[in-house]
Amino acid sequence: MLLFKRHADLRKYLNQIKLAGQKIGFVPTMGALHDGHLSLIKMAKKNRELVVCSIFVNPTQFNEQKDLETYPRTPHKDIRMLEMVGCDVLFMPNTSEVYPEETETSLNLDLGMLDKVMEGAFRPGHFDGVAQVVKRLLDLVQPHSLYMGQKDFQQWTIINFMIQELGIPVQLIRCPIIREPEGLAMSSRNARLSEEEKIKALAIFETLKLSKDWIQKMPYQDVEKEAMKNLNLPGLKPEYFKIVNKNTLLPPSESTPFENLIACTAVWVGRVRLIDNLFLGE
Ligand code: AMP
Repeated sequence: MLLFKRHADLRKYLNQIKLAGQKIGFVPTMGALHDGHLSLIKMAKKNRELVVCSIFVNPTQFNEQKDLETYPRTPHKDIRMLEMVGCDVLFMPNTSEVYPEETETSLNLDLGMLDKVMEGAFRPGHFDGVAQVVKRLLDLVQPHSLYMGQKDFQQWTIINFMIQELGIPVQLIRCPIIREPEGLAMSSRNARLSEEEKIKALAIFETLKLSKDWIQKMPYQDVEKEAMKNLNLPGLKPEYFKIVNKNTLLPPSESTPFENLIACTAVWVGRVRLIDNLFLGE
């Protein structure tokens, strides 16, 4: 695996790759890698693309300085894991490479309601930061395909919108959520959970699965209430549990087809905030 820290070197290398007719698949991450991240790399490899993974803990998407400071960082382990799955290129820039002073990097993109609901309501400015960094990394890498996880469904929807709005020539691919055997969605933040908290956190996926049954029998508003009650356990603090139309991220109407319904939730487990989601019509 080749490791680049400077975007000029990365570009020089990728230009040669493109000239040779090879397609490039890009997997942006913030590191502290786990099998969820690796599944994205594997999917890009399966599609026979040259895989570029980036590791960059993007300061502009954190609302709290403390969260940025305590975000897990395991670069040596990450490099070993990427080599094991055959990642071709790792891009590990520092902040001034991604946001050079002389380059305007802020995006004036109106995300409409997409960034006002759910995560957007609790983390103001978060998705502006996400859109800004993904746009910047896409400019630097110029991939044919971009691989992102359903785990961050609202993020995926917003990046999809940005790609359409700005006419960026890249194919966005949504990769399924990888879970621990017991059901907890893999997340870099899980590393901050105690063993006891990991067991408590299982209630999140359990509740998502229950909501799939409940939606057959009751209106979505009652399912949301029932789910919030179900998550209100010692050590857990649910922030929201919403059932929305997957295209608009807004509450469903009578005519929203079942397969468009997705349940999304954010729950504090001790001091760690976890998100998860489930399509209700699948
Ligand atoms: P992050 O490092 O948290 O920014 O995540 C980088 C990418 O990995 C994003 O596209 C995430 O949606 C994806 N990802 C994170 N966790 C998982 C998971 N458990 N399963 C599949 N993809 C994931």
